[in-house]
Amino acid sequence: MDADLVLVLDAAAFAADKHRRQRRKDAEATPYINHPLALATILAREGGVTDAEVIAAALLHDTVEDTETTLAELEARFGSVVAAMVAEVTDDKALPKAVRKQLQIAHAAHKSPGAKLVKLADKIANLRDIAASPPADWDQTRKAAYVRWAGEVVAGLRGTNAALEAAFDGAAAALG
Ligand code: ZN
Repeated sequence: MDADLVLVLDAAAFAADKHRRQRRKDAEATPYINHPLALATILAREGGVTDAEVIAAALLHDTVEDTETTLAELEARFGSVVAAMVAEVTDDKALPKAVRKQLQIAHAAHKSPGAKLVKLADKIANLRDIAASPPADWDQTRKAAYVRWAGEVVAGLRGTNAALEAAFDGAAAALG
């Protein structure tokens, strides 16, 4: 089988296993794996991204931040390029949430092209989830604050992929 396809399928299977006990925060508590799968689909279908390492990094993007997965584990299984992209999109959970959010804004423009694509898709997927099925305890003010913050992060990612940047703008506009 084509090596790119094997990489992508292996990343999907690995992420599904790592996130198997996690749920999203929406009212239906959607299985967590739907989120990385959404990123990969946005990149491939809407962004026209054909780089299998970027798609694999999207599938794996929350494994280090949100599960016990280590970067060494990713590097051994998926290679240094994929592991480095995941590292670039992983927040340091030792820092307070407000600091992490501020650092996402400050660091966005300095990411590699692949990491910028993953971050764009992440923000698109999150805005669409908030519009379609918001966390039960989020009011309009909280949604608006999230859209504003995501827009500040995406400002540093622009110039990477016009279709994805337009998709983000559409998702932000849909949330008012
Ligand atoms: Zn994510």
